[in-house]
Amino acid sequence: MTGGAPTAAVERRRARVRGAVQGVGFRPHVYALAARDRLAGWVRNDAEGVLLEVEGADLDGFFAALRAEAPPLARIDAVEQEAVRPQGAASFEILKSEGGAVATAIGPDAAVCDACLEELFDPGDRRHGYVFLNCTHCGPRYTITRALPYDRANTSMAAFPMCPDCAGEYHDPLDRRFHAQPTACPACGPHMAMAVSEIVARLRAGEILAIKGLGGFHLACDARDEAAVARLRARKDREEKPFAVMTAGLASARRWADIGPAEAELLTSRERPIVLTRRREGSGLAEGVAPGLRELGLILPYAPLHYALFHEAAGKPPGTAWLDEPQALALVMTSANPGGEPLVTGNDEARERLGSIADAIVDHDRAIVVRADDSVMRVTAGAPAFIRRARGHTPAPIRLARSVPPILAVGGHLKNTICLARGEEAFVSQHVGDLDNGQTFRFFTETIDHLSSVLQIAPEIVACDLHPDFLSTRYADETGLPVVRVQHHHAHVASAAAEYGVEGPLLGLALDGFGLGADGGAWGGELIVADGAEFERAGHLAALAQPGGDVAAREPWRMAAAALAAIGRAGDIEARFSDEPHAGGVRAMLERGLNAPETSSCGRLFDAAAGLLGVRARASFEGQAPMLLEGLVRAPRVLEDGWRIADGVLDLRPLLARLTDETDPREGAELFHGTLIAALAAWAGEAAKARGLGHVALTGGCFLNRVIAEGVSDALAARGLTPLSPRAVPPNDGGLSLGQAWVAAQTMLDGKD
Ligand code: ZN
Ligand code: ZN
Ligand code: FE
Repeated sequence: MTGGAPTAAVERRRARVRGAVQGVGFRPHVYALAARDRLAGWVRNDAEGVLLEVEGADLDGFFAALRAEAPPLARIDAVEQEAVRPQGAASFEILKSEGGAVATAIGPDAAVCDACLEELFDPGDRRHGYVFLNCTHCGPRYTITRALPYDRANTSMAAFPMCPDCAGEYHDPLDRRFHAQPTACPACGPHMAMAVSEIVARLRAGEILAIKGLGGFHLACDARDEAAVARLRARKDREEKPFAVMTAGLASARRWADIGPAEAELLTSRERPIVLTRRREGSGLAEGVAPGLRELGLILPYAPLHYALFHEAAGKPPGTAWLDEPQALALVMTSANPGGEPLVTGNDEARERLGSIADAIVDHDRAIVVRADDSVMRVTAGAPAFIRRARGHTPAPIRLARSVPPILAVGGHLKNTICLARGEEAFVSQHVGDLDNGQTFRFFTETIDHLSSVLQIAPEIVACDLHPDFLSTRYADETGLPVVRVQHHHAHVASAAAEYGVEGPLLGLALDGFGLGADGGAWGGELIVADGAEFERAGHLAALAQPGGDVAAREPWRMAAAALAAIGRAGDIEARFSDEPHAGGVRAMLERGLNAPETSSCGRLFDAAAGLLGVRARASFEGQAPMLLEGLVRAPRVLEDGWRIADGVLDLRPLLARLTDETDPREGAELFHGTLIAALAAWAGEAAKARGLGHVALTGGCFLNRVIAEGVSDALAARGLTPLSPRAVPPNDGGLSLGQAWVAAQTMLDGKD
């Protein structure tokens, strides 16, 4: 070569991109960047993710933008580059996927994106008002997918052949809908069975509607209408569980609750969970939405239909600016799961199971393939924590610190989830529910079958709870695979070990309602050292009797009676609980030790406190009394000498004795919380010191109590210890399957050493 200006050297690089990079618009992203920088080369999907080659001068800018400008649903775990010989190529191409067995990952469902929202409200757009619009960056995924690979033919969109306009967008690499499998328009896609205007008119008239959504039906009514909310409760068997409320946007949500920055971020995240917030007193929301509770579960619209409802109610203003204004309408949007059975998903099923609850069924003609409840989250100690992990998060993997063999963990009995793990990834299923009826058990087996098929994981081992009678345990026994039985509280602490990548011994507080102990006893207030496949019970709460057995879990007054007996005041039981016909019988059980099994449960300790303080004698759902007790707390206070620690046993009888004489429930609730926090921190602190451990996992359903979670966390930090709070899974039994999988993995890996 002679003369001319010096040109930058042309180079060519091959790059392997790992992570969630398929089905999220990653190839068009690469294509657009290459076009922008005038680079040659190609990109394609394969079994390991995305493989690409680019050729040109100055490739560093391209690779910086590859990460910085990645599509919203993509997650890049690694970009591995290597230099290859330049080929003098001139064009850039998207190549067909390599090989037949491409492990195309399925992402979680995502809330409608801003670009689609603009189209929804643009009278000039061909998708104006079309409530099934979506694109590569938003819309249904997991809930419509039957099988791998993730393409339209394997989703419930297979029933809707694309029209020429949609097909044109689908095949155009520079279009937002390039390879958007669920893309549709009014000409070719699904339709609602009822007009949006009629749905809104009926809701305004006080009707209860069963509305088909992404992962199941919701029961909806006007959340400001006390009579409608009361009717919904009456028809749902007078259930007292709080209902979630949907508002048009953040500005509207602030009418009903105080929302901090971290909560605002969660509410508007594309995963769109229900977020527990501090309810505003006297805001005009029906009291029946969350009876007696200070927290309010809020959720923002995520499906286009939800937006269309609020748009109609707002008088159909053009554009999307109205979403930033406070809107009047607020809707109860509660899972349609009558009698604690799984969420209703089918149209005929809705008519059968919801006909007596809803005034009308609002369905559509796209099938829900996978049932998924709304996720529920809360901000605890400044960071998001799960209460229920489901839509928007499943099947996104949780990264593990160690590569594990293919494992199935079947979870516990209540708030069941299952977990499939393989390599450095653990996939925790959506919330399945309590396995105490045939329908939920069927959902459990379907979830295992579906998740293992779409993830193509064939487990070599199955992990389950120690309890022989759990349906999940029986399922594990019938798989024919080697079974690892994991003690309940060991699994709770191991779930934190899995999330935080702790491979050595990990100390944890596991506080919950019930789990079968290694000694056959009822455990639930445990100090556990989890160490791989092994664990040590470093301590436990002093046991209380459970008069009547399981029934005591629903009748806090019985636990209060047990507390009276424990402090030598059984003689007070009948006078104190004179309204209870069984008070005499309970006293006799306690005095004679008949039908009053002992438990170290922290949940039952909460029940005892709630019962002693007269907060609630009988609960309509598990955890109700402790929730009401927590709701009374403004500032926790410590009763000095309110506890004793001996031989690892934490004894709170001095505190219970003090509560027995407390006449003000608020004072009592504050003393109970403050003293319990101080006692737990002292107890765990001692154990940590004795063993030279620096971390304490905070797990079990009792850590759903924000006062306790934040208080114990702060108190441990003040002692120089590092608290580990679950963030990837719920602290309650919804996180058990992850812990079981982790223990099973250690068992297998240790066995091979
Ligand atoms: Zn979109
Ligand atoms: Zn179309
Ligand atoms: Fe538990």
